[in-house]
Amino acid sequence: MKPFDYVRAGSAQDAVRAGAEGRFLGGGTNLVDLMKLEIEKPDRLVDVSRLASDEIEDGVEGLRVGAGVSNSALAGHPLVRERYPLLSTALLSGATQQLRNKATVGGNFLQRTRCQYFYDVFRACNKRVPGSGCDALDGINRFHAILGASERCIAVHPSDMAVAMAALDATVETLKPDGSTRSIPARSLHRLPGDTPQFDHVLETGELITHVVLPASPPKRQFYRKVRDRSSYAFAVVSIAVAFDLEGGRIANVSIALGGVAHKPWRADRAESVLEGGSPSAELFAMAAEAELARAVGQGHNDFKIDLSKRLIVAALRDLSEGKREIAA
Ligand SMILES: Cc1cc2nc3c(=O)[nH]c(=O)nc-3n(C[C@H](O)[C@H](O)[C@H](O)COP(=O)(O)OP(=O)(O)OC[C@H]3O[C@@H](n4cnc5c(N)ncnc54)[C@H](O)[C@@H]3O)c2cc1C
Ligand code: SF4
Repeated sequence: MKPFDYVRAGSAQDAVRAGAEGRFLGGGTNLVDLMKLEIEKPDRLVDVSRLASDEIEDGVEGLRVGAGVSNSALAGHPLVRERYPLLSTALLSGATQQLRNKATVGGNFLQRTRCQYFYDVFRACNKRVPGSGCDALDGINRFHAILGASERCIAVHPSDMAVAMAALDATVETLKPDGSTRSIPARSLHRLPGDTPQFDHVLETGELITHVVLPASPPKRQFYRKVRDRSSYAFAVVSIAVAFDLEGGRIANVSIALGGVAHKPWRADRAESVLEGGSPSAELFAMAAEAELARAVGQGHNDFKIDLSKRLIVAALRDLSEGKREIAA
């Protein structure tokens, strides 16, 4: 591993001042592995894991969560379990208890893809070395994207939490090195690969995630489901986060996000348009799933994900409308 300086930030302002020449360190559960492989080679690590590490505050705008809060603490918080059960389920479906105890909200958002060619420094990867090619295109691409991919990269974003945050319309708050702040909808934090797959997200160099804000009144019916190869210690093959209300027997405030299908948590806008205001029925759910997956493209080994995603959408909507899943307080 390349030698590096270690700095523990005392405040968010200190962190961005020190961060310009280095990388922020959350729980280190992804970044340190990448440093051992020399895929990431920062000169300096700025430890932000203790900043706002216990900050979960309820207010009129919603639940404001510090970026240093651990995945375990967030999943187990009474207000999260009560008001945002899909987020709690998504967090608990990720990694293992030990990893969730270390992993932070900020780091989980910005963890890097699990494409096996990205981690293998002897293989071509445009994300790791821009312009070098993409061995996944003709390789084993069972875990890769079916939506929004490009000829340069077909990787998927790995986070369960980020899919839940996208469906809940959470907002990410940041602090830039120049001292200014901004709020970014969680659904817009990550980007599609296009010609520049080396960029996973829209943050600037040295921009720190300080908080995430969950809306005060999310839809009542919520569900997160993850299809994976093992029931623990496995990333999603495909996952789904769904939330909606039933008002006078009609679907309202519906949001759906898919995981494991794209370079970012995929908000299913087309499915949502079909569903909003409709009466729950098997036909409506099938139409929504077809509308969303109409633009999906398989890469060979992952063609099955297209049908799997459709079936997940239909099953999640059916179970939620029949009240078989948790209803938020
Ligand atoms: C075996 C294994 C299985 C896993 N399974 C799953 C799974 O099923 N689902 C899932 O979602 N995840 C899974 N994970 C991923 C794990 O959840 C992530 O490694 C973890 O969430 C990353 O958080 P961290 O705080 O450790 O980030 P770090 O490793 O510290 O950092 C990750 C990135 O975020 C940046 N960063 C950290 N904090 C901030 C901040 N506040 N502002 C800006 N940038 C920041 C870092 O610079 C780095 O680039 C798994 C990991 C392992 C090792
Ligand atoms: S899919 Fe993306 S991350 Fe994977 S090898 Fe291709 S360029 Fe690299």
